Amino acid sequence: MLHIQEIQKTYDTGDEALKGVSVRVEENDVIAIIGPSGAGKSTLVKCVNRLVEPTGGKIFLGETELTSLTSKELRDARRDIGMIFQEYNLIDRLTVMENVLSGRLGYLSFWNALRRNFPSEDIERAYDTLELVGMAGLEDNRADELSGGQRQRVGIARAIIQQPKIILADEPTSSLDPETSRIVMELLREIAEHEGVPVLINIHEVQLAEKHADRIIGLTDGRKVFDGPPSELTDSVKDRIYRNGSSSTDRDSSADVPQSESSTVSMPKTDV
Ligand code: ADP
Repeated sequence: MLHIQEIQKTYDTGDEALKGVSVRVEENDVIAIIGPSGAGKSTLVKCVNRLVEPTGGKIFLGETELTSLTSKELRDARRDIGMIFQEYNLIDRLTVMENVLSGRLGYLSFWNALRRNFPSEDIERAYDTLELVGMAGLEDNRADELSGGQRQRVGIARAIIQQPKIILADEPTSSLDPETSRIVMELLREIAEHEGVPVLINIHEVQLAEKHADRIIGLTDGRKVFDGPPSELTDSVKDRIYRNGSSSTDRDSSADVPQSESSTVSMPKTDV
């Protein structure tokens, strides 16, 4: 399904974020990528849809080599990749329905997209999807009237309505309280089962990953150091991933916030 082969990323600054990481994602897998801040989790997820351009290695989605596509081909291929963001990336002044339907824009002709002229099947599908994520009845609310949890549900609905082959989630719970984080992770699990698509999640909170993922990938310093089911994520494995001997669930909450990225990384939650 998704095959990441020896992917590398060195930023222009010289930061070696990924040093040859390989991951194979199969159908319906819910995979959590964990690791300390700066390990390369976000870079890895963003390399898949080439929001970040890898500097080495290959990524295949089915038969398509994503890493060799031209920008026009990439636009089409991105329809197959749903993306869920930490800060939701909704358009505040648009309604819930309009935000969800924007997930179908890639399927419309230029003129229909310009006029936001969606076929009736898309509108029906949007209603169904909003029901699936627990947002039925809120279709006409503006996005800026919603709570964080509701916004993330809309973000998830927008990804699902694309009918993607895979869903990527970059820190989807970081801006949410512990209870809402749990609900969102449960929802992602249900989506993977219901829609039959794998979900690859960059997640900060180890306990959430252990509880909701089928498989965990541990990254440290741009390298994969663990790939297995949550049952094999023992304390010594966590030590290896977090190196200093503590995971983000049991260390001082300020310890995992990098100096340079504190505005984009929230504190680890300790009580989920
Ligand atoms: P994580 O998601 O695990 O916190 P990131 O993928 O955000 O890790 O970052 C991995 C490394 O790449 C870090 O050293 C980080 O500073 C660096 N990095 C991330 N984004 C950029 C960027 N846009 N430019 C330069 N370096 C970056």
